[in-house]
Amino acid sequence: MSFQDLGLIQPILRAVSEQGYTTPTPIQQQAIPVVLAGHDLLAAAQTGTGKTAGFTLPLLQRLSGGQPARNAKGRTIPRALILTPTRELAAQVHENLAAYGRHLKLSSMTMYGGVGMQPQINALERGVDIVVATPGRLLDHQSQGNLDLSAVQMLVLDEADRMLDMGFVHDMRRIVALLPRQRQNLLFSATFSDDIRRLAGDFLREPKEVSVAPRNSTAELVEQIVFPVDRERKRELLVNLIQTRNWQQTLVFTRTKHGANRLAEQLERDGLKATGFHGNKTQSARLRALADFKNGKLQVLVATDIAARGIDIDQLPVVVNYELPNIPEDYVHRIGRTGRAGAEGQAISLVCVDELGFLRDIERLVRKPITQQIIAGFEPDPNAKAQPIVMGRTVLHGGEDSRRPGRGGAARQQPARAKPEGRSARAGNAGNGGQAGRPRQGKPQPGTPPESRADSWKSTPWAELDLPPHLRRGQGNGRRPSSGGQGRSQGGRSDFGSGGRRQGGGQRDR
Ligand code: AMP
Repeated sequence: MSFQDLGLIQPILRAVSEQGYTTPTPIQQQAIPVVLAGHDLLAAAQTGTGKTAGFTLPLLQRLSGGQPARNAKGRTIPRALILTPTRELAAQVHENLAAYGRHLKLSSMTMYGGVGMQPQINALERGVDIVVATPGRLLDHQSQGNLDLSAVQMLVLDEADRMLDMGFVHDMRRIVALLPRQRQNLLFSATFSDDIRRLAGDFLREPKEVSVAPRNSTAELVEQIVFPVDRERKRELLVNLIQTRNWQQTLVFTRTKHGANRLAEQLERDGLKATGFHGNKTQSARLRALADFKNGKLQVLVATDIAARGIDIDQLPVVVNYELPNIPEDYVHRIGRTGRAGAEGQAISLVCVDELGFLRDIERLVRKPITQQIIAGFEPDPNAKAQPIVMGRTVLHGGEDSRRPGRGGAARQQPARAKPEGRSARAGNAGNGGQAGRPRQGKPQPGTPPESRADSWKSTPWAELDLPPHLRRGQGNGRRPSSGGQGRSQGGRSDFGSGGRRQGGGQRDR
């Protein structure tokens, strides 16, 4: 199938071919005709599948076929609104609009926080057809009377799952309430969680559903490997891997902004060109880091989940989970940074005994065991005991036996007031949707003071886990009988290499 077959008009076909695209990706093949026909769309597609062109191309075409909308002063007001969770993603969507719409007479702008309001006000005053916005800043403009949304005919919620994770649900609802009822709605999400389906039920009208990846599956082209390692030796192993495998462009994930900074500084001391990439950095620092990373000046980008959400780098060869995410869905998002648009990629996870529970949750979500390899010289201590993971004032219990029976597969954590990145920090984490392991704000859970929790979690040495043969230190070394993993309602024990015993996926700590 070619782009011509999708019914796109000549100026768009020209722009697409100038981008060097010859064949539409599967999401484009499915989504473009649906959007051109005016239907609402619910699309499951991860970043890297070409989803942005999947909605921007038909959106541009539909708008170019109509007349500009004007307010009483004759100023062009937006006919399309694209909401994204992050500034980076907004900037990228906007770049795509500019590239694909270069032979059309449509204007677009970005509207996100962290930069001055005035240039955005000026752009609105000049007149604009398409606004690409993060929810918070859009509402700021709206409340100041800068923005007229009365002519919006197309609404796109891009990476809606992440907007929910970041606590934007109320903002999204407020924004939708400001729009004309008669409009076309497109919702893109990496996965169709129950929360996404609920949102779609509220916002979309008889949507056509398209999906390019089965629910929560990981990119086929991504080779996933776990390197078991002791917690104190992760950095050494990372440096070793980068140097011995000659990785020139490595995206490394940590759980926290502070962790990202610290690791980047340490890597610099180890002689690598590295920098942290997270929400505490200014927008210009982030864009500079991204540009340096893309053009090869920077070898390692150490990112947090949220900041990395919008990173679009073609054929990123390797992604490293320096720390496994406590939210399994984040793993899927992270590794979606590699193996993009048909290229092969590697997703490496450095996993210590504290994180085995997280690994189980991830394997349950992706519905397959992840291959484990021990790097010679970095064999983990078979008697190492899991420790709680401290993230500011949040304490995560990711060690294998740190879960209580009956609590679902998610790693449990102590109540905390950790400040997650993004608007949720301000918005009280609304719309978190009960994500497993997501730091909870505010009050401690009743009856479980920190001391008793600390007392109650038991560590499990590597040797006692259901490890694959190459990881076992001989037979009869204290390994528990494998029934330890069976019949436990939380499925808390991942049985590497025998997916059949895994309990049904996706249990959440609601
Ligand atoms: P996205 O999933 O929208 O973030 O796109 C991922 C990458 O694929 C971007 O770098 C796009 O420029 C690229 N891309 C999108 N559509 C195509 C296509 N049909 N052929 C080749 N590359 C594409």
